[in-house]
Amino acid sequence: MKRPPASLYAVATLIAALVAVACTTTVPETGRRQVNFLDPAQEASLGLTEFQKMKQTLKISTDPAQNALVQRVGARLSKVMPVPNAQWEFVVFDDPTPNAFALPGGKVGVHSGLFQVSQNEAGLAAVIGHEVAHVVARHSGERLSQNALAGAAVAGAGYLLNKDDRNGAVPTALLGAGALVATKAFSRGQELEADRMGAIFMARAGYDPRESISLWQRFAAWRNKNASGGNTPQFLSTHPLDEKRISELQHYMPEALAEYKG
Ligand SMILES: [Zn+2]
Repeated sequence: MKRPPASLYAVATLIAALVAVACTTTVPETGRRQVNFLDPAQEASLGLTEFQKMKQTLKISTDPAQNALVQRVGARLSKVMPVPNAQWEFVVFDDPTPNAFALPGGKVGVHSGLFQVSQNEAGLAAVIGHEVAHVVARHSGERLSQNALAGAAVAGAGYLLNKDDRNGAVPTALLGAGALVATKAFSRGQELEADRMGAIFMARAGYDPRESISLWQRFAAWRNKNASGGNTPQFLSTHPLDEKRISELQHYMPEALAEYKG
């Protein structure tokens, strides 16, 4: 295959850069600028559809105490977490692995196995606050947009060379928007940002944000005890538990504590 002239790559890269500038938004609480092509309403509708599927295929817990606790924490947190187009719903899934997740549109799932690590109400609030912070910061859409941009320069050159390929460049990447809710791993920076924002949210909901540090320490202890020999649950493989995570949380703790009324 003949390589397109270098100048076409330059043009396509310029187009991608212009699109990126046109699609920047600001992350609440941290003020960081991010690239995001997706519309919040579109993100929410994808989240709703995915959650519906999960409720139909996964086992839902009927444990009254666990459900009551999750509903109580969810009610308090949902008042202070600015999720676009939220239709809040908190569901406990019967699954022994310690895990929780949040989808665009305010759909939150908690595994019954999480309670052995969260241990108390504030610990649960720390996990849910962290997961919903990923949604508030629109991290999935950001990842998808970054991937789209990475491919846009090459695809854009293809588009300019071949006028029959009308679906080239960014539109093709956006057709993959279904991958939005399937995003399992966030970047390291996004994880730390979700920690920082989650601590603020739990403080605003009336939970001591310092409990988030204890929570991650309990998670590390649980992993050291249970996840040896490459048997690391997905949540822990995507949430590194190390010094950096704890020290960053400690660094930002004063801004969360300023929101905590005790
Ligand atoms: Zn996370």
